[in-house]
Amino acid sequence: DKTFDVVVIGGGTAGIAVAASLLRREPKLAIAIVEPREHHDYQPAWTLVGGGAYDVRKTRRATRDVIPAGATWIQAAVVRIEAQQNQVQLEDGRIVSYRDLVVAPGLRLAWERIAGLEQSLGKHGVTSNYRYELAPYTWQLVQSLKQGTALFTQPAMPIKCAGAPQKAMYLACDHWRRSGVLERVHVEFNAAGAVLFGVAAFVPPLMEYVKRYRANLAFSSNLVAIDGPAKLAHFDVTDAQGQTTRETKPFDMIHVVPPQVAPDFIRDSGLADAAGWCEVDHATLQHPRYPNVFSLGDVCSAPNAKTAAAARKQAVIVACNLLAARAGQPMPRRYDGYGSCPLTVERGKVVLAEFGYGGKLLPTFPLDPTKPRALAWFLKATLLPWFYWNGMLKAREWFTRTSA
Ligand code: FAD
Repeated sequence: DKTFDVVVIGGGTAGIAVAASLLRREPKLAIAIVEPREHHDYQPAWTLVGGGAYDVRKTRRATRDVIPAGATWIQAAVVRIEAQQNQVQLEDGRIVSYRDLVVAPGLRLAWERIAGLEQSLGKHGVTSNYRYELAPYTWQLVQSLKQGTALFTQPAMPIKCAGAPQKAMYLACDHWRRSGVLERVHVEFNAAGAVLFGVAAFVPPLMEYVKRYRANLAFSSNLVAIDGPAKLAHFDVTDAQGQTTRETKPFDMIHVVPPQVAPDFIRDSGLADAAGWCEVDHATLQHPRYPNVFSLGDVCSAPNAKTAAAARKQAVIVACNLLAARAGQPMPRRYDGYGSCPLTVERGKVVLAEFGYGGKLLPTFPLDPTKPRALAWFLKATLLPWFYWNGMLKAREWFTRTSA
C-alpha cells in the first residue's frame, strides 16, 4: 500500500493550482489528486455566459487535461477523512494514505434548501448562473423578456463570489436598457442579508447602477420556496423588529443563487469549525490541530471572499508553507485575505473589487478601484480566463511571482 507525500482532496480551482505549485517547487513529490468529476470548470465566466458575453463551452475542460504532469489522478470522491491515521477513505472503500493532506473540495450548492427549486430549474423562467447547464438559459430568458417582472435572489453569506447574484442582474438590465424594454420590466433584487455588497467602498458605484436600472432592492428577504408552474416565489421577510413574515411575489423570470454550505464529509471529519468549514490559521492556512493538514479554496474557514482570485494567492501560500513545514522549517508565507470580485455593472465595464481581511482595499493597479472601467472588463472577459488555464493551473513562475 503506497503512501503519497501529499494527497489533495478536490481537483477544482484550488486543488489543481496548489498541486501544480507544489510540483513546480518539488518535482519529485508523490502527489495524488482525488477528484470524481470528468470535467473541470472555469466558473467565474458563467456570469458572462448568463449575460450573453461568453461561450459556455470555453469554460469547461477535461479533468485529465488539467491534472499537472507528475501528479496521480484518483478518480473518486472522498467520503471520510481519518486525520489521526493520515488516511482518506474513498467512496468505493479504498483507503489512501498521506504524509501531508490538502483539503480543497470547495463548497456544496444546497439547491434542496429552497422548496420546489430543483424541479423548476431550467424551465418556467427559473434559472441560475451557478450551474454550467443553466447559465445559457439565463441569457435565453433575458433575451426573450420584453416586459414583466424579473427577480434576482441572494442567499445568506458566505457564498462563492458574493457579487455574482447582482452581476446577473446588472448584465440583464443592461441588455434590457440597450434594447429599449427596461421601462417595461420590473426588476427586483432580494437579498437575505442587509447590505448590497460587504465592502462599503464599492456600494456607492453599485448604487449608481441600481438607480440607472431602476431596480428595487429588498433586503432581509430570503427565498424559501418556488412554484415554477405558477411562477410564484416565496420569501421570508424579516423586519427591523426581527418579525418574519412570508411574502409571495409573481415573476416572469427569476435568477436564483442557492444557499451554500460546507460538504458533509468535512463537517464530520474532526477538521471542521462550528459552521462546518475546514479550520485553518487565517495567515498560514495550516490546520490548528493537525500540522500536516492545510486547506484552501471555498471550503476553508478563512474569512476571505470565496473566489478563484483568493485560491490563486492561497495556492502559493499553502505550497510554500507545506513544504517548509515538511522540512521542519518555519513557514515563510502569510495570507492577507486577498480576494477579488470583478463586478460586471454593464456590458463592457467592470468595477474591479479587490480586497483582503476586514475589507481592506488591495488594488492590483494604481487606479481608483471603485470606478467602472473598460480595462477591467477586458481583464475579466479575456485576460483572466487565459491566465487561469495557462498560468494559475500550471503554476508558471512568471505568474506565481506576482502572487506573494
Ligand atoms: P471548486 O473549483 O468548486 O472545486 C472543488 C472540486 O472538489 C470540484 O471539482 C469537486 O468535484 C471536488 N470535490 C467535491 N467533493 C469532493 C470529494 N468528496 N472528494 C473529492 N473531490 C471532491 N471567482 C472569482 O475569482 N471571480 C469571479 O468573478 C467569480 N465568479 C463566479 C461566478 C459564479 C457563477 C460562480 C459559481 C463562481 C464564481 N467564482 C468567482 C468563484 C470561484 O469559481 C470559486 O471560488 C473557486 O472555483 C473555488 O475553488 P475551489 O477549488 O475551492 O472549488
